Amino acid sequence: MCSVGGETYDFDIKELDADAKYYKCGDCGNEFKGFGRKLKCPACHSARVSKVSEE
Ligand SMILES: [Zn+2]
Repeated sequence: MCSVGGETYDFDIKELDADAKYYKCGDCGNEFKGFGRKLKCPACHSARVSKVSEE
């Protein structure tokens, strides 16, 4: 029997990177890159952020 493993972490990193989108703060207008459902503006910590589509 052979044991293989240790390379599966690559997938996690790539998935997170592909998930990252640009967001804009609705309070101070700051644009930042982030991922996840609940984001906060890194500048003013406001939760009123909206997604910006930049392709
Ligand atoms: Zn802000």
